Amino acid sequence: MFTKRVVMRYPTKLVDKPIVSKLVKDYNLDFNILKASVTPNEEGLLVLELIGDRKNYTKAMEYLKSLHVTIQPFKHDITRNEKRCTHCGACITACPSEALVVDTKTKKILFNEKKCIACELCIPICPVRAMEMHY
Ligand code: SF4
Ligand code: SF4
Repeated sequence: MFTKRVVMRYPTKLVDKPIVSKLVKDYNLDFNILKASVTPNEEGLLVLELIGDRKNYTKAMEYLKSLHVTIQPFKHDITRNEKRCTHCGACITACPSEALVVDTKTKKILFNEKKCIACELCIPICPVRAMEMHY
């Protein structure tokens, strides 16, 4: 089974189109939506985790590109600015994936990028803006 996280940006005219359901129906891909939004200039933005067969994934990407959807690999787009973090712990309760936890020995807040699903909930909560989003 092949799993890939991608950032999709698509033009205004496609915002209302059932692009994701087509990935399921025509390319047999399963998906998790990690983030979905429409930017101020009405460009659509989706962060998806796609699961399925590698060949079908490749064909699905070709289909999306034919629609002028921009595809980028999803990297660990949330980072923590270690110089800013004061280890206050305010972000822990916001994090749904336990990517932010307390080290019981040191009482420091640990950030595990591999568990982060880029939901951005920690960003407005952090009083010193240590959690940062990058695309
Ligand atoms: S809320 Fe900000 S400063 Fe506090 S522990 Fe989390 S990242 Fe660090
Ligand atoms: S972006 Fe979401 S999942 Fe990632 S560390 Fe922040 S709250 Fe947790």
